[in-house]
Amino acid sequence: MPALIMPELLEALQFAAIHHQYDRRAGYDRLPYINHLIKVTNCLANRIGIKDEALLLAAVLHDIVEDTEVTVEQLERRFGGEVADIVEELTDDMSLPYDERKRLQVEQASKLSPKARVIRLVDKASNLRDIFNYPLDWSAEKKAAYLDNAIAVAERIKGDHPKLDAWFDETAAWAKQQLQAQQSA
Ligand code: ZN
Repeated sequence: MPALIMPELLEALQFAAIHHQYDRRAGYDRLPYINHLIKVTNCLANRIGIKDEALLLAAVLHDIVEDTEVTVEQLERRFGGEVADIVEELTDDMSLPYDERKRLQVEQASKLSPKARVIRLVDKASNLRDIFNYPLDWSAEKKAAYLDNAIAVAERIKGDHPKLDAWFDETAAWAKQQLQAQQSA
């Protein structure tokens, strides 16, 4: 990664850590939310080899408008228009019910910009890993619906990064096995 990205990336991590400080991941272990943001960004940088600064900053900040009081305008002032635009693309309308938001993610997936697509795909794969790796009080049906949604979104946005596509497919296949094991247990 170009060394120049480091200060900005640390700035974004600090900003995300502060604004998400009381947020926890769904599940019994109450993992700090920042763990998810670091996992997604680290995967993009080190597993997929992304070196684009706006993309990596947007990855750190991808849930901040959805889950905190931070606005797109605030992101624009602090991190620039491109980062703010990518985050805005990835922000669901939280006034809508869960199922409707998931349906819109599929419907609008192919309209995402290339940078937003990569983050969305890593986010979905990373969430699938977490859903089946950590204790979570979701029914098997809800987990199955998340998996189906992730696959439907992925089908519309794969194709830019073969390494990422392969990792997503491997993760989805693994999640399917976990789900079958849970359903037959
Ligand atoms: Zn996320």
